[in-house]
Amino acid sequence: MLATGRQVLQKANKGNYAVGAFNINNMEFLQAIVSAAEKMKSPVMIATSEGAIKYAGLCLLKNMVYCAAENAKVPVVLHLDHGRDMDVIKKCIDIGYTSVMIDASHLEYDANIKTTKQVVQWACRKGVSVEAELGTIGGVEEKISARKIIYTDPEKAVDFVERTGIDSLAVAIGTSHGAYKFAGAARLNLNVLKEIKKKLDMPLVLHGASGLPAKVVQRAKRNGVRLGKAEGVPDSQISQAVRLGINKINTDTDLRIAFTSVIRESFRKNPAEFDPRHYLGPAKEFVQEVVEHRIGVFGGRGKA
Ligand SMILES: [Zn+2]
Repeated sequence: MLATGRQVLQKANKGNYAVGAFNINNMEFLQAIVSAAEKMKSPVMIATSEGAIKYAGLCLLKNMVYCAAENAKVPVVLHLDHGRDMDVIKKCIDIGYTSVMIDASHLEYDANIKTTKQVVQWACRKGVSVEAELGTIGGVEEKISARKIIYTDPEKAVDFVERTGIDSLAVAIGTSHGAYKFAGAARLNLNVLKEIKKKLDMPLVLHGASGLPAKVVQRAKRNGVRLGKAEGVPDSQISQAVRLGINKINTDTDLRIAFTSVIRESFRKNPAEFDPRHYLGPAKEFVQEVVEHRIGVFGGRGKA
């Protein structure tokens, strides 16, 4: 069933687990994610970036997710990931998204507040939930890039939430977008997280926390995906972050690598094959497997 971000995240905050938000650009990812959520009996958020909307079209994405949600046995949220274009955000709210993220974290503090407030006003009228970001998450995500990580300031976070009225807050605690997160050992600043949660008893969001599981990376490399020193956040650190109050975790990179590795494998092994279903099908299955594992790490099993 279709749900709002607020519905699934407030429950997660009370129950001390995290809901997975997984990015899609096409039908296969959507099917894989919803099947995984149903198998795990977990709520799930389907995230579309501005890039995904440009690629697939807003109407098609919305209707596809609505159809999947109406038929699903678990709560499904349709979420805009990293909204920066106010026009796109407004369109998502108007067409029926049940959650949007306004990412004005690149602006000065007061401008971030002003922009976020505007989105909250639009969203309020339609009952849509709003996520905003304070601080800077590293790495590159489509148009969004930041070289330096600036941790979220706990004091400012309280002021920011009071003044904007958002439903959930994306915090910067040392993660980066993309496949190349850490030069040395993976480190999240869990003290900053603890401090923020102590001051703010509300849903907190973790971006840039793909796991780059060995199983996925090895299969990708075996089939010629050049990944170099790709490195993700270990499951143990994710579980710790969840225990300390993270209630939504975004995952994109893991699924992309999983999907691509199976397609490359199919092409390598079966050069005579040209029925797309025969390579997209197995790719979809591998994505589902990765999503199921992530939901398990987030503590979402049985929470639908
Ligand atoms: Zn992100």
